[in-house]
Amino acid sequence: MSETAMRVRAQIDLAALRANVRALRARAPRSQLMAVVKANGYGHGAIRCARAARQAGAGWVGTALPQEALALRAAGDRGRLMCWLWTPGGPWREAVEADIDCSVSGLWALEEVSAAARAAGRTARIQLKIDTGLGRNGCAPGDWERLIAAARAAEDAGTVRVTGIWSHFACADEPGHPSIQAQLAVFRDAVSYAERQGIRPEVRHIANSPATLTLPESHFDLVRTGIAMYGISPDPVLGSPADLGLRPVMTLSATLASVKRVPGGHGVSYGHRYVTPGETTLALVPVGYADGIPRSGSGAGPVLIGGKWRTVAGRVAMDQFVVDLGGDSAEPGDEAVLFGPGDRGEPTAEDWARATGTIAYEVVTRISDRVPRVYVGEDEHLDDEHQYTDTGGRR
Ligand SMILES: *Cc1c(COP(=O)(O)O)cnc(C)c1O
Repeated sequence: MSETAMRVRAQIDLAALRANVRALRARAPRSQLMAVVKANGYGHGAIRCARAARQAGAGWVGTALPQEALALRAAGDRGRLMCWLWTPGGPWREAVEADIDCSVSGLWALEEVSAAARAAGRTARIQLKIDTGLGRNGCAPGDWERLIAAARAAEDAGTVRVTGIWSHFACADEPGHPSIQAQLAVFRDAVSYAERQGIRPEVRHIANSPATLTLPESHFDLVRTGIAMYGISPDPVLGSPADLGLRPVMTLSATLASVKRVPGGHGVSYGHRYVTPGETTLALVPVGYADGIPRSGSGAGPVLIGGKWRTVAGRVAMDQFVVDLGGDSAEPGDEAVLFGPGDRGEPTAEDWARATGTIAYEVVTRISDRVPRVYVGEDEHLDDEHQYTDTGGRR
């Protein structure tokens, strides 16, 4: 299928992703970088993005779910790999056997991972997570002493090795927010307590993208970057991607399915929330909320067609929406760009976020499996043989 014949496509610029990883490494020159590729690489494709990030020097890859980490191993990723969102039942044994660093936030998880390690006849690599104030996952500071004691005992029994101590920020995208220094203080205390008890972590880490970009004292041994690696600013207050030295990786575009003249007073799409103000040309963009276009983009989302910004006319439906071209003409087969880097005049993911009352993280992550990803800028010659075996990563 030729690219122009595609109904819709998300073009993923892996050269831009590699450049973003290098730019982020330069922001944290004394730390390693973990490329966060949870949720299918924020919609960009986890396997291809992890591989490109490794090529650009990411020593670590991170996912939320163990299943996401196992899928990377199945695709040939052999570098350091961590996942953090566990529920009772695992899959601990598979993760231990796949040499994945498993986050542990409580005693139940330590017990389950230790049992899996015993069953596998291996030592599990675990990273202890302290809740320094996010109030989400992680061990409450009041339970830290017990968790550390249990982890030390498990290390002595040979079932686990604590490779990291880590945490996550609540408000790193609001520079100067008082919780940031408060979380750092709790984190330093938790690390020094663990070290006094004989824990010897390889890596201590708390920084996400906004902290990587704004707060060098948070970098420690490792920074975990997600959104910035995909070329998106964590928050407009931190500046545009270009201000931050980043380039958006995803361009979402569609092919017009229909163009027609209609009279004034013509209702458009379900509920007739848009009525043509006069005789005009309507273009049909064949993507909808099943493709991940927010329905809240009804009457609001921006689209570049024929060199001009237009706005979604009426409701976004499951598979399609309409744009009023006013006095302009277009042809079926013409391109409609929903968002991209912005340098061809197209809207950005941030523009869609503003128009739909969400954040750019959600705009890219919700693009569904119905949208083919088209990869450009790949360079297989950059593979590091120690970190990658091509057993299917390209399939
Ligand atoms: C998603 C996530 C990150 C990456 O956050 P960004 O703001 O996208 O850089 C880092 N750490 C954890 C625990 C996460 O869940």
